[in-house]
Amino acid sequence: MKSIKELFRIGNGPSSSHTIGPKNACLKFIERYSDVTNIVVTLYGSLALTGEGHSTDKIVKSVLKDYKVDVKFDKKTETEHPNTMDIVGYKNKEEYKMRFYSVGGGAIEIAGEDNDLPEVYPLSKLRYIIKYCENNNIRLWQYVDQCEGPEINSFIEEVYQTMMDCVTRGLEGEGMLPGPLQIKKKAHYLYYQTNSDLDLTADFRRKTVAYAYAVAEENASGDEIVTAPTCGAAGVLPAVLRTAVDVIPFAKKRGYNITHQDVLNALKTAGLIGNLIKTNASISGAEAGCQAEIGSACAMAAAFQAELAKASFDKISSAAEIALEHHLGLTCDPVSGYVQIPCIERNAVAALRALDAFGLTVYLDTLDAKVSFDTVVETMLETGKDLPTRYRETSVGGLAKNYRC
Ligand code: SF4
Repeated sequence: MKSIKELFRIGNGPSSSHTIGPKNACLKFIERYSDVTNIVVTLYGSLALTGEGHSTDKIVKSVLKDYKVDVKFDKKTETEHPNTMDIVGYKNKEEYKMRFYSVGGGAIEIAGEDNDLPEVYPLSKLRYIIKYCENNNIRLWQYVDQCEGPEINSFIEEVYQTMMDCVTRGLEGEGMLPGPLQIKKKAHYLYYQTNSDLDLTADFRRKTVAYAYAVAEENASGDEIVTAPTCGAAGVLPAVLRTAVDVIPFAKKRGYNITHQDVLNALKTAGLIGNLIKTNASISGAEAGCQAEIGSACAMAAAFQAELAKASFDKISSAAEIALEHHLGLTCDPVSGYVQIPCIERNAVAALRALDAFGLTVYLDTLDAKVSFDTVVETMLETGKDLPTRYRETSVGGLAKNYRC
């Protein structure tokens, strides 16, 4: 399994596979062929069908701003990967071509080349990792430390800070989201409303919703986020993280001392869970539907919450399993190709679900759990493969088809 640095990427929204991935592809191309003068970029599959709404053409043109660029949306040609792009550069009569696949979470692969990154984790199933941790008397985040080395701490600190900053910026944002859907930003209104009927728990949950909206709206506006595991699902984990930070003073009064390092450690466990899903299934909406994006984000956030509570291995595993299981089959159908409807609301619902998934493990005897996390991950991949293409980030089925303004 690769480093979690490949999972948590800091970049601009609204879609990791449609903006961060193509950006990386363009950078890779000009790193290799910097002296071309004209460049033609052709987008296929989901990149062609939703590329305009996802701002793929804008990001391509901004990265290649020093060249004469033509971006084509080929919505008919079928390719071997749902997110394929060709970049062809011209210099005098010479032609240089590279084909890229945007494989989810901002990662790219180059057709016909060895794309293998170093393996950082020797184990890639949660049940084996838990066994290893039990045998060595360490927690999951310590396994991350062991595999990644000490530099993971500064990386996770940066991830934490970027997530927190994104929430803060998003809460202050007002006005409309870009695009034709005419959607008002809601995070500010959600956060600052006061409702005296709400008890403390309900008030924390309202803020969780506001935080998820804040990040999802920042993402929809093309601002800086952390893929967790993707741009479209980037609001779920920061919403639960920021809520946890809010709760720390209250927890202290009750005798629970949660430190900043505990929060960072819980983020490492969340990253480990996301990495397991990425390795054994998919985190790409174009490959496996929204279950792979929002479902994975929910599992990561549930594991974060469980690790922060210093829960047992079976509870961490069950929290992630419950969170993912109840997203199985979730389709990806962004209206008009914009990462707004249903994506933003979906981030908020998944953040609450993550808290509830962990809550459920507190009440249940999770040692008796019949479905394991590894089994749900395997099931998610199979379900994703069975989903018709129209439900995999093509904006031609589901809500995208039936939506009436
Ligand atoms: S519906 Fe889900 S997977 Fe599809 S773009 Fe929106 S958040 Fe991403």
